[in-house]
Amino acid sequence: MKSATETFFADKTVFSEAVNAYLPGTAYVSLAQEGIRKIDCAVTLGDRVEEGQIIAGKNNAHAAAIHAPIPGIIENFVSCLMPDGKAGLAVKIRLSGAFSYLGKSAVKSDWKSLNKRQLYHILAEKGVVNLFSRPVCLAEEMRELKKNKDHILIVRLNDEDSSQQTDSFIARRYQTEIAEGAAILVKAADIAGVVLLYDKNREPPDREEFASQINGAEIISVPVAPRQYLSSTVQAIISTVRQRQAGPVFDAIAHTDLFVDASTLLNVYRAVVFSLPVMENIIHVSGSVIHKPGIFSVRNGTLVRNLVEECGGFNKPYSAVVINGVIAGMSITTLDMPITKQVKSIRFLHRWELPDQSAQECIRCGNCTAICPSQLDPGILFSYVCGIKIVDPAYIASAALCEDCALCNTVCPSRLPLCQYISLLKEAVLREKK
Ligand code: SF4
Ligand code: SF4
Repeated sequence: MKSATETFFADKTVFSEAVNAYLPGTAYVSLAQEGIRKIDCAVTLGDRVEEGQIIAGKNNAHAAAIHAPIPGIIENFVSCLMPDGKAGLAVKIRLSGAFSYLGKSAVKSDWKSLNKRQLYHILAEKGVVNLFSRPVCLAEEMRELKKNKDHILIVRLNDEDSSQQTDSFIARRYQTEIAEGAAILVKAADIAGVVLLYDKNREPPDREEFASQINGAEIISVPVAPRQYLSSTVQAIISTVRQRQAGPVFDAIAHTDLFVDASTLLNVYRAVVFSLPVMENIIHVSGSVIHKPGIFSVRNGTLVRNLVEECGGFNKPYSAVVINGVIAGMSITTLDMPITKQVKSIRFLHRWELPDQSAQECIRCGNCTAICPSQLDPGILFSYVCGIKIVDPAYIASAALCEDCALCNTVCPSRLPLCQYISLLKEAVLREKK
């Protein structure tokens, strides 16, 4: 069996372009995104929708809007397995009619004349989600930043999980667009300093490019070792930046600052500069069992099955499909899963790349507690979610501090899916807080 490290670095191809995936004849657009199980739907059965029309989330203060990725007819509402491993409702749209955005030239807007409120409105209306860790509505996150405080914008240009190449690809291919995306957030969120995190094994970002776009904020570039897992989580970034002692602006970095990735900034740029709704993702498709791995621009609502066809199908039988990285990603059981805004990568694994998955009872070895960067007791939280233990409410609330790093999974001799269960608990705790 291959080790995890061998698996991560087996695919060393550097991609220079994203392939536009075929447009799906039928799209299944999730109504359950950003941790909200069902977002208010604005369409009914039989409606005709335009490409880019808002179909959900129009009046939801906590969600970014969801748009029709293709023009067509609302044919049904169906339950599908979603990339977060849960079932959710999707709007089924059958392609028909003309495209409103595809193939049309977009006009650049003068966003510098817009005020903060207008920028937040555009980000929510165009459906921009912050994909740095758990997907959240970016406009809402920015509205909740502390008032009257100078913030830091942390831009992660590398991939948190080295088994995927999505953000590092976007950072290379769309550097100018990302720099402008960062400039938009600097204006919208009282940003005093920008941290550019990059893979220390690659070229540093072009600081001049960022400096020419960003006004009124200091910029530092910080190399990280992405193959060292956890080098790009919030906690690790904070301590790396503080250790550099780059001045008072950066020494004050905290959890409450704004952390974004390259994927999010590209969507910010497209939404604000060209008024483009978020209708497609850039996705890294990989794995030894797939004929033509690559980076694809994929419309939301496309089924994984269609994307596999686009990649020339399988050359060997696959045993698992992992969404968003092999370490902390989600393994799904079906190819009939629609792509949602949160999907950055899909990896198809062969049988020999899978460890023995059989779970046993917790033996209270303490490994998970010892390794947890948030100092939680994953074993106890897991027992609570399973209904095995009654736990103090204050302790249950601590699940909100989980960084979804999955280190607890990796050290658990009983092979318990701790991270996935704690993630469910975290979601419930955060929902209750709202
Ligand atoms: S995933 Fe596990 S190890 Fe990581 S922060 Fe959460 S509980 Fe701790
Ligand atoms: S690592 Fe696994 S077996 Fe050990 S205490 Fe944690 S949950 Fe239990």
